Amino acid sequence: MKLLEAKPVADKMKQDLSKRVESFTRRTGVKPKLAVVLVGDDPASVIYTSKKGKAAEALAMEHLTARFSEDASPFEVHQKIQELNQDPSVHGILIQRPLPKAFKEEEVLYWVTPEKDVDAFHPLNVGRLSLGLKEGFTPCTPAGVMEILKFYEIDIAGKNAVIIGRSAIVGKPMATLLLQNDATVMQCHRRTCALPEITHKADLLIVAAGKHHLIDKSFVKKGAIVIDVGIHRTPEGKVEGDVNPAGLEQVAAAYTPVPGGVGPMTIALLLSNTLRAAERLSRSI
Ligand code: ADP
Repeated sequence: MKLLEAKPVADKMKQDLSKRVESFTRRTGVKPKLAVVLVGDDPASVIYTSKKGKAAEALAMEHLTARFSEDASPFEVHQKIQELNQDPSVHGILIQRPLPKAFKEEEVLYWVTPEKDVDAFHPLNVGRLSLGLKEGFTPCTPAGVMEILKFYEIDIAGKNAVIIGRSAIVGKPMATLLLQNDATVMQCHRRTCALPEITHKADLLIVAAGKHHLIDKSFVKKGAIVIDVGIHRTPEGKVEGDVNPAGLEQVAAAYTPVPGGVGPMTIALLLSNTLRAAERLSRSI
């Protein structure tokens, strides 16, 4: 079983990005800048936010964090985001999830202007992706999976792809991207009956259910490629995925390990979207 590790893929992407950032800054005199909006102090969110900032610095990009306390009102956070939307020195904006309960996701989705929506949450960007229009953004995690498949030269045209999960930010856009790349896509979710029968048809099995070790080797067809999007911290402090890798090598041809598989791709794609936003915004001035 081949291990589809993210490191060489992310390293190559970062090398390319670094050259593009340099040429953008030489041409425009400004550095691409990412703004992260963080509400509350969920420990995982604080760690992710700081990782995003460090990764931006490593590529000579700028970043800022707009931080609010847990009890901040949606009104004041929205106002700050409107300010960032208008600020010409900011190119990409993302709102760190999860947000406190006072925030209504169906309203928040519209807050970041589509031109700076590097997470691709805005309904306009969701629609653009669905229609295959190039001016939008692609959500970072499914885009990261596509980069891994491309890097390891895994041809998916005509293959059966099964996705477990239908979230707005992973499962659904993953299906769209695979379909656009000519896979035959089947999407499973909580109400799916006879899951193993379906997964046994998968040449490519993508697991994004947010359930620790939901899938094991008994679900996997011989020779399948298994992509694990899950990230869980066990009570012993280990990081594990939605797929239990025990004995997987007896059936799968390739697998993205957790940690070190899909996870590290997400930040690389976020920075790539931020640079893209900066390039587009600089052209429209
Ligand atoms: P993520 O952000 O990784 O996509 P979410 O929690 O937003 O995670 O979504 C989880 C998705 O996984 C949902 O679409 C849900 O229907 C699916 N799912 C959860 N449990 C199961 C299960 N036991 N079998 C199949 N699908 C599941």
